[in-house]
Amino acid sequence: MVLTREEQTEILIIGGGPGGLACARMLAENGKQVLLIERKPVIGPKVCAGGITWSGLLQHVPETLIEKSFPVQHIYTRQQHVRVKEKQPVVATVNREKTGQWMAEKAREAGVKIYPDTHALKINNEQVVVRHGTDTKTIGYKHLVGADGANSLVRRYLGLKTTMSGVGLNCMLPIQRHDMEWHLLPHLFNYGYAWIFPHKESISIGAYADKTAISTKQLKRNFIIWAQSRGITIPADQIRAGLVNYDYQGYAFDNNWLVGEAAGLASGLTGEGIYPAIISGQAVAQKILDPTYPAHELARMIKKQQKHHKVIHYAQRAPALCSLLMNLLVFLLRVKILDFRMLEMAD
Ligand SMILES: Cc1cc2nc3c(=O)[nH]c(=O)nc-3n(C[C@H](O)[C@H](O)[C@H](O)COP(=O)(O)OP(=O)(O)OC[C@H]3O[C@@H](n4cnc5c(N)ncnc54)[C@H](O)[C@@H]3O)c2cc1C
Repeated sequence: MVLTREEQTEILIIGGGPGGLACARMLAENGKQVLLIERKPVIGPKVCAGGITWSGLLQHVPETLIEKSFPVQHIYTRQQHVRVKEKQPVVATVNREKTGQWMAEKAREAGVKIYPDTHALKINNEQVVVRHGTDTKTIGYKHLVGADGANSLVRRYLGLKTTMSGVGLNCMLPIQRHDMEWHLLPHLFNYGYAWIFPHKESISIGAYADKTAISTKQLKRNFIIWAQSRGITIPADQIRAGLVNYDYQGYAFDNNWLVGEAAGLASGLTGEGIYPAIISGQAVAQKILDPTYPAHELARMIKKQQKHHKVIHYAQRAPALCSLLMNLLVFLLRVKILDFRMLEMAD
């Protein structure tokens, strides 16, 4: 498929991540004309640990996409090591490229026109200027969906600032491990954490922290030190960094829409963003199809995000109590007063 110099579409979606693809598929399945552009040459790859949760997505993803699933979570603080065991796997891992390819295939089957290697440069008068290969083209639209992630062009076009965000570091290493590990270590990651998420033939090892709590440079140093303490050497040139935008300020702006991280819909506490991207993508599609659609699932998720904000707020106000709070959280998980699902973005 080749873009014409001046393309026109009913709905233009910028960004081929889980939010954009979920939105595109639902619109096309309901008879809408949808064009989706993605700046990368391949749909799917993303700096991400690939963790999906049971209440969120695990039940809805085909088994062939699941790399490993974990009924037991190992949570560490400096003082405790807790195993949280559930009947169902609480978290599983997926490969982002394969998941993206599968979602793109479903969207194409529904009739979405997908253009990879197409970078949105400028938005002006219901038209987007794009670079497609070496050519510059324009695409006119009736509805514009910004599904373009944490550094969203559409969000900036709408004049929304992003002040609440986190930074995640990820490294995929060809190592075999069996346990899913979460490490809550305030002296290294403040109220963030580090993780080891086993995949089929590799692990995702990484760290996440709020941008206001710790600089990216320091986070990287602490991550390498911590990994060394787990017996893993991280090649510095293999660390990939990504922003996590949790500064939600709305998703509907006349005929402009925001989904996923472009809308600031990730958890500031855990960095979970795949489920929120899909739920908000589908909700925006429903709203375009029927402006009276109530979007209850999205509303519940936004409430959950607010709860995660509250925990961040307390941790920011009392940094000295951070370690105490984390140990309390882990203790409550151990004695089952708190459910691990409280940390998920889904209900
Ligand atoms: C280190 C790290 C680990 C993470 N681990 C997890 C995890 O285990 N589980 C989880 O649920 N979440 C995780 N996340 C968060 C998760 O990856 C994101 O929240 C999720 O991918 C958001 O989906 P999205 O569709 O909103 O945006 P994205 O997946 O970021 O997709 C946006 C797409 O838009 C494209 N794009 C951007 N600008 C343009 C443009 N101008 N023109 C054309 N295309 C454009 C990008 O190339 C990208 O493909 C992690 C994040 C980081 C940084």
